[in-house]
Amino acid sequence: MIRRLINKVFGKKPASGPRILPQEAHGIRREQVQSCALKTTRALREAGYAAFIVGGAVRDLLLGREPKDFDVATDATPEEVRRVFRRARIIGRRFQIVHVYCGADLIEVTTFRAATPQAEDDEDESRVTAEDGMLLRDNVFGNQEEDAARRDFTINALYYDPEKQEVWDWHGGFEDARKKVLRMIGDPAQRFREDPVRMLRAARFAAKLEFHIDPATRAPIAELAPMLERIPASRLFDEMMKLLLSGHAERGVRQLRAEGLHHGVLPMLDAILDDPDRQKFIHAALHDTDERIRQGHSASPAFMLACLLWFDMQAEWRRNKDTGQSAQPALYDAMDAVLDRQRDALAFPRRFDGTIKEIWALQSRFEQRSGARPYRLLDHPRFRAGYDFLLIRARGGDATEELADWWTRFQEVDADEQARMLLPAQTGDAKRKRRRRRSGPKPAEAIEVRLD
Ligand code: ATP
Ligand code: MG
Repeated sequence: MIRRLINKVFGKKPASGPRILPQEAHGIRREQVQSCALKTTRALREAGYAAFIVGGAVRDLLLGREPKDFDVATDATPEEVRRVFRRARIIGRRFQIVHVYCGADLIEVTTFRAATPQAEDDEDESRVTAEDGMLLRDNVFGNQEEDAARRDFTINALYYDPEKQEVWDWHGGFEDARKKVLRMIGDPAQRFREDPVRMLRAARFAAKLEFHIDPATRAPIAELAPMLERIPASRLFDEMMKLLLSGHAERGVRQLRAEGLHHGVLPMLDAILDDPDRQKFIHAALHDTDERIRQGHSASPAFMLACLLWFDMQAEWRRNKDTGQSAQPALYDAMDAVLDRQRDALAFPRRFDGTIKEIWALQSRFEQRSGARPYRLLDHPRFRAGYDFLLIRARGGDATEELADWWTRFQEVDADEQARMLLPAQTGDAKRKRRRRRSGPKPAEAIEVRLD
């Protein structure tokens, strides 16, 4: 029924078919495909449907990279897909997909979607388009050609048939991959308007793959970047984190800046990147995070957020103290204020708050290097994150190298040497104690941080 409607709206047949590349041309071997993806395509085919590996996995295999995950595209509807598998469920509303499980592995199965009509032609309620051409819901099914046309970049519209070991290329993605060009399918301005998040995706893929953005694709971005403000904050947050935790964030951000594209394209980074002091710190943070990811370690969104918001938090804290608040309450108020402000713009989940605050609050404790305190800090469950953060501060010019080196060494040496490393109790400590006794009980770990 829906197909018939689509045919009525579009009323046209493919002008030309895909370019079909045999195994010798594309070089992808079936064994490189995750077995759960192979099982999924096989089961769909045996049930009489078309099924291909599609998107990032084909692109990455073609480029000799290891795919992050394997997506499958099919002409079966989500309901039909669900019926083929024992363990499968339909998820999503804006964009329905089916999750198929084999053991702990998960494959996302997507039904071929139709190409996007103009907003004024759109009467079907399974697709909702806003006045300015932005696609709000997208569940209109179509054939493979239409599915290829609604994808974002040519290199993301390659379909791999594991049975015949062929790659079906509808938009010249194979050539573009060879030339390292990131090219939008269709009219770039229109496609960015439909979904402004594609601008962030362009930046992310260009950085990750070391591709350059085709000039026609790049041209409308500067003007359309403000449209990102209309994207639901949670989606923006996910996309930003993908970019910042891709293992190629530093290059990505530098590239955006070089092209003048960071305004609006990376909300929140705008201000940070235009301030030379903060820039050094942020690049240290991005560089460090990239390194960790490339070495196979994890990098958490909470840590990245703690980096991004550190300067705002310190400024807010200083302001609070200037109004006469004492250090610790001023710190806690500043942390809450900064996180709440950013939550409005970026909707990052509250579950990160605890970690972010701990990383921040630990920073002043690194200054305290006498008595029992350094040992207590070593035992803190967030010591590692706090210490990593300190290293970044040192590299970014926000803490001394001497302090960072001291903590590096303190962890490495034996107990005798640790004891020798401790600094003598500062005279200030004694004064503080006297003051505390006079003014009644204070929290056990009074917080004091150098802000200069
Ligand atoms: P990654 O390596 O980050 O997973 P990917 O290309 O697989 O990259 P996904 O977000 O997993 O990206 O999406 C899978 C595929 O769906 C893409 O390759 C692309 O064809 C299509 N796609 C995803 N998001 C969009 C979008 N906003 N607009 C058009 N097509 C999209
Ligand atoms: Mg993917």
